[in-house]
Amino acid sequence: MQVLSVASEVYPLIKTGGLADVAGALPGALAKHGVTMRTLLPGYPAVMAALENAVPFHRYEKLMGHAATVLAGTAKGLEVFVLDAPHLFNRPGNPYLGPDGKDWPDNAQRFAALSQVAAALARGDLGAYKADVLHLHDWQAALAAVYLRYQGGGPKTVMTVHNIAFNGQFPPAYFGILDLPPQAFAIDGVEFYGNVSFLKGGLACANAITTVSPTYANEICTADYGMGMQGLLQARKAVLSGIVNGIDTDVWNPETDSDLKAHYSVRNLAARDANKRAIEQRFGLEPGDGIIHGVVSRLTWQKGLDIFASLLDWLVGTGARLALVGTGEPNIEAAVMAAAARHKGRIGVVTKYDEALSHLVQGGCDTMLVPSRFEPCGLTQLYGLRYGCVPVVARTGGLADTIIDANDAAISAGVATGIQFSPVEGASLQNALSRTAGLFANKPAWMNMQLRGMGTDVSWDRSAAAYASLYKGLI
Ligand code: ADP
Repeated sequence: MQVLSVASEVYPLIKTGGLADVAGALPGALAKHGVTMRTLLPGYPAVMAALENAVPFHRYEKLMGHAATVLAGTAKGLEVFVLDAPHLFNRPGNPYLGPDGKDWPDNAQRFAALSQVAAALARGDLGAYKADVLHLHDWQAALAAVYLRYQGGGPKTVMTVHNIAFNGQFPPAYFGILDLPPQAFAIDGVEFYGNVSFLKGGLACANAITTVSPTYANEICTADYGMGMQGLLQARKAVLSGIVNGIDTDVWNPETDSDLKAHYSVRNLAARDANKRAIEQRFGLEPGDGIIHGVVSRLTWQKGLDIFASLLDWLVGTGARLALVGTGEPNIEAAVMAAAARHKGRIGVVTKYDEALSHLVQGGCDTMLVPSRFEPCGLTQLYGLRYGCVPVVARTGGLADTIIDANDAAISAGVATGIQFSPVEGASLQNALSRTAGLFANKPAWMNMQLRGMGTDVSWDRSAAAYASLYKGLI
């Protein structure tokens, strides 16, 4: 079966978030299930530089005003089609934002072009390639389903939502550039409260909709989480499902991870302690055997870190230490840095994006705190499981689906893998942290929880099987 996957970012070629990890990992994981997945992505400079054995597959004399070429080739082990349209994608830096930190003013043209090419390629219009299923990721690819609906022909489509907060919304005047018939600006097309929304169009037109966890699939059907799409999603609930992401268990492997001070596994968990000492050094924490909480996150409202920041004086008062690596909203950065200044030796903060340090935090801290207000799937709690860094998470989205709370029943059944709390507010987070301290004090029980987490299957295998069966059901 041939599946064309379309994404605006694909690890390891270009990445700003979890979408890239999913788009990068799926082709390899699906191969075992009889699915040949090729990926269409924009020709950003980093992608063009990584492209090998490229041959022109189709030339456009005009695509959004200028010439463009679809190239077929390989890049870092992935089979790709690359949309080489320099006027749209040959720009340095972030794929979505200009140097001023604002959206590129032509994002609608850029990703409408990607989606037009996706529809034509999947339908077999561009050359000797045709897809059995077209798998679209997020708003940047979503219009492809709309083109197929209004142009006709083409394969069945799957629309995956990685975060419904980003829906690709533009003023109604942009409808003119999309090259869609007038009737597409309607309630069953791209119209969204008077504007154009790419994601809305994709959700209305795709044959199947997935999101990255079953709980998030339910949540986005409600007003609290649906960001205005809940009515449409309720109407399409029969074709909506949630498939939890996996992680790359080769990159994230405490037995081989070169960013750790010491390697360890379920057979020699005690070796993990050397990483805790390395955390103390790296974050300037006083040495000791007490608990060190870890945070690796964007510092944003979504992640609930404003609430956590307001509890830091209290947390230090309980004797806990904290190692935090993250960047984001200035007020949250300022709050955690001020707390670190007030509590030298108890709170260490690194405000940058540091992949290597994120591995050490997972390998050395006792907990991974993820107090998100909403979380479509979440990766850091999955890394935490694999690294024996016990997740303390909000009961929402993928966090609810991947962590088993250490309540009395789960402890006596021997299935607990972390601590969950809800609602996401100060008192219940405080309560969860107190509960965590109590569990940490019972060393054998804590170690059991670590070992259970490390034994949990967080690989792509299960998720790939679920996607493969979805594709098969469609054709
Ligand atoms: P989201 O995609 O919403 O930010 P996820 O948990 O799905 O949240 O993925 C976040 C990814 O980004 C994880 O791989 C995490 O380790 C990484 N990450 C976030 N902030 C940092 C940082 N400051 N340094 C290194 N890695 C980070």
